[in-house]
Amino acid sequence: MAIQILPDHVVAQIAAGEVVERPASVVKELLENALDAGASTIHITANEGGQRLIRVSDDGHGIPTTEVEVAFARHATSKLRSADDLQYINTLGFRGEALASIAAVSRVTLITRHQDETAGTKLHLEGSAIIGRQAIGAPNGTVITVENLFFNTPARLKFQKKEATEKRQIAALVSHYAMAYPEVRFILEQDGREVFRSSGSGQLADVVVKALGLDHFKNMVEVSGGNGEMSVHGYASAPSLHRSDRGRITLFVNGRAVQDTSLTYAVVQAYHTLLASGTYPIAVLMIRVPSESVDVNVHPTKAEVRFQDANHVFVTVQRAVREAVIHYAQAPDLRGGRFSGLATTPPETWGASKLPSSRQLELQMELQGSGQYPHQRDRSLDHESDPTAIPVGMGTPLKPRTLPVLRVVGQVGAMYIIAEGPAGMYLIDQHAAHERILYEQFLEAYQREQPITQAALNAQTITVSPIEAQMIEEQLERLHQVGFSLEPFGPNTFLIRTIPAILASSDPVDVVAGILNDLELDKQPGLTAIEDKLIRFVCKRAAVKAGQILSLEEMQSVIRQLERCQNPHTCPHGRPTMIHLSGDQLAREFGRS
Ligand code: ADP
Ligand code: MG
Repeated sequence: MAIQILPDHVVAQIAAGEVVERPASVVKELLENALDAGASTIHITANEGGQRLIRVSDDGHGIPTTEVEVAFARHATSKLRSADDLQYINTLGFRGEALASIAAVSRVTLITRHQDETAGTKLHLEGSAIIGRQAIGAPNGTVITVENLFFNTPARLKFQKKEATEKRQIAALVSHYAMAYPEVRFILEQDGREVFRSSGSGQLADVVVKALGLDHFKNMVEVSGGNGEMSVHGYASAPSLHRSDRGRITLFVNGRAVQDTSLTYAVVQAYHTLLASGTYPIAVLMIRVPSESVDVNVHPTKAEVRFQDANHVFVTVQRAVREAVIHYAQAPDLRGGRFSGLATTPPETWGASKLPSSRQLELQMELQGSGQYPHQRDRSLDHESDPTAIPVGMGTPLKPRTLPVLRVVGQVGAMYIIAEGPAGMYLIDQHAAHERILYEQFLEAYQREQPITQAALNAQTITVSPIEAQMIEEQLERLHQVGFSLEPFGPNTFLIRTIPAILASSDPVDVVAGILNDLELDKQPGLTAIEDKLIRFVCKRAAVKAGQILSLEEMQSVIRQLERCQNPHTCPHGRPTMIHLSGDQLAREFGRS
């Protein structure tokens, strides 16, 4: 065959192959155009996996009448002017190839009306050739319909995936973009059925629930990190939720879905020692970097990017995810799900614990680094925690077990109880553990409206500042509900009649003063907030202190009760109550494995 220059339509088809590989890539390009046009609602229709029909309609700014034809020319774009602009790309598109490529391999109908114009335009194309154009009344925005994809490229047609695969791919794509743009409403209809809809509320959590399902979402933790000009936001799975492949790690860089092996690895790395090998987390992460520090012009599909400082990005992503997951592990409210507030919230959870301070985090990271990590969940006790199981040997029904049976071995530093369980060794913070036990007991009595046992006192008085006096006046009823009876007794003075029985051995004036201090620090006093605060305060005061030497019986009593706490892993303030070293970890540390 002699050398010949290829005819334009063949060139177009070859080029199209790079951009539109499959129906999902058409959807991707059209979605990106709609987003670039500033749409607030995007409606996507795909029939027969997109093979027969793809329609994307948006309410963005539309295309001016004079530009509808050129929009389909190759390398025609409104988003880039010079090569210099390539450094500062803030739009999803910029190559001006998508519409040309799509039109080269399908039948396209475009209806668009620019926001500044009164009439719209309808344009028909078939295999790149314009076969019709007319003025038309249309709402502001753009509707592009792509039919019979690859009708003129039999080779491509032959290699298309199964319809079901393509449907799934399209649904995944739409949900990914919906997560990256929570402020935009996405509606996806496949073969006449609505399969996805996001609200456009602007809340990432709302979309993640829709995209991943509430059950998954409940086991995801919020990731929020970054430094300087880079930020990482999103959700990552708790270690209890994982997959056997990396396919559920979804990454966006400046709003663009990207495939990046290195960043995916950064996410996986963040779970080091938390996930068994061969298992992978689920994550949806929005990474933002200055546009000049990333090159998005690497590949025609724009799915790959190159960072100026790839190492910095890697480390920042890894650290953000790691911190989120470690936080989670420290407050492992797993059974109810981390975000149980979204589901039906059992009343017991209203005292949900706070996250620990960064200092504790550091400490945890240190422990972590040495390979010691408190596993948040023992598989060994899954079968035991059946809430319907009736424990034997006691008069009153016991609460379900949340920890395996632990044997007390001893105490270290008058602070920690060492215990042994079927899954290894536990180091338990006696104060934190006792606080947790008292808190749950107190809460339960309070919620059942059982009277809180009070210690009667030889009436003592406390004189406070006018502001504090007002606070007490306002809270008299609530204070009474948790066991404090105070009576006004002259200007800014109160008679302390009773305090909760568990504080019987404390100085009542001291206790009340402490409560006032706590209430004053309360920034957002809602009903539950104050009550919860009061209860937490009482429990903190009443719990055994660090530095207190405990008898074996006392330690056993603490452990027995902790084993049946609803949330045994954290104190009411969210600090860990225990560090667990599994048999495997010990073996590793001693070089036995
Ligand atoms: P690119 O997005 O890289 O600029 P495309 O081929 O995807 O290239 O689109 C070409 C041009 O057509 C865009 O630059 C834009 O001006 C216009 N366009 C395409 N789709 C839309 C849309 N949904 N709304 C408004 N303008 C659009
Ligand atoms: Mg585009």
